[in-house]
Amino acid sequence: MAILNDTRFQKETRQAEVVVIGGGLAGLSAARTLAREWLTAFLFENVFSAAPQSLSLLHVLFYIHSSGGVQTLLATTGGAQDRRFRGGAQQVALAIAGELGTRVMLNQPVSTINHHQQGVEIYSDRLMVKAQHVIVALAPTLAGRLRYQPALSGRRDHLTQQFPMAAVIKVHCIYDRPFWREEGLSGLAIGIPGALSAVLDNSPEDGSPGVLVGFVHGDKALKWSAKSAEERRAEILNCFTRFFGPRAGQPEEYLEQSWIEEPFIRGGYVGYLPPGAWISCGEELRKPVGRIHWAGTETATVWSGYMDGAVQSGERAASEILAEAH
Ligand SMILES: Cc1cc2nc3c(=O)[nH]c(=O)nc-3n(C[C@H](O)[C@H](O)[C@H](O)COP(=O)(O)OP(=O)(O)OC[C@H]3O[C@@H](n4cnc5c(N)ncnc54)[C@H](O)[C@@H]3O)c2cc1C
Repeated sequence: MAILNDTRFQKETRQAEVVVIGGGLAGLSAARTLAREWLTAFLFENVFSAAPQSLSLLHVLFYIHSSGGVQTLLATTGGAQDRRFRGGAQQVALAIAGELGTRVMLNQPVSTINHHQQGVEIYSDRLMVKAQHVIVALAPTLAGRLRYQPALSGRRDHLTQQFPMAAVIKVHCIYDRPFWREEGLSGLAIGIPGALSAVLDNSPEDGSPGVLVGFVHGDKALKWSAKSAEERRAEILNCFTRFFGPRAGQPEEYLEQSWIEEPFIRGGYVGYLPPGAWISCGEELRKPVGRIHWAGTETATVWSGYMDGAVQSGERAASEILAEAH
């Protein structure tokens, strides 16, 4: 947004969504109203990846509290976007899986859990495992799609019925070098119109190659995931161009990941509760059902929605079982 308060000729060219002419109380009030509205939209799009009206206020407060505050959630330095993993974040899961060895079974989607006083039986298409306990470490909406015998309580089922995944498409554009830095640009951009809501400089430390990462959030992700790959790419590159100039629209490589389309994930960054759901069913989120325990980042109390939260939730669910055993 730009406020123009004098008539001198300006050589500099700038771009803005809205120009307010007149820096008196009226103009300033108009600008402040728009800025607040956009800040709210930015917060909800980028942190929750969902529209404000679809979120429970309690959920928003819980989520902010679990990370330590709005500033921490939004910040790059010292906040949620502070670091990148050299080689990718999947290495954390791969390293833990490496420690566990053959105990990790891949390509065995679980469909049914039988549970009773003596133990549990877990079924996939090709396997049945008998155990004393089970930890369901899935997003609540996916946990709700499993078949439980006997069926879970109505309240627990209503919790998972009301726990949609947010929606996000992530895009990486690769360039020979981070050319935007040479132009004095940080690589950080936020925008309300257009498909992309946020862009960050995701280049490795040595700047080779240059990488911009962009996100399509919430309803926009749902809308654009229904378009053809060509239409989506054209729109997204158009946004990159608007933010960083024509060079940004011609990456050497364009990589896109729609988390909505992943059948065992179904969205991101995380599941959320709509208005009323915490009060009506929230108590069920972490409460074990007999020998069934619940993990997953949505059940974390610290950094819920993030990798740290996923780790905390897994350790908490394991400690429930260890406590019962002693
Ligand atoms: C685009 C994007 C960017 C993100 N960026 C960050 C970030 O910068 N920092 C951060 O901390 N967090 C980030 N997150 C969030 C982070 O990825 C999650 O919080 C974390 O991975 C959740 O871990 P989880 O174990 O709870 O769930 P998941 O990682 O979803 O693990 C559940 C697993 O269960 C499997 N599964 C599903 N159904 C079944 C079934 N029926 N049977 C067997 N297995 C099944 C799934 O395939 C999956 O492997 C991001 C998420 C997204 C989508």
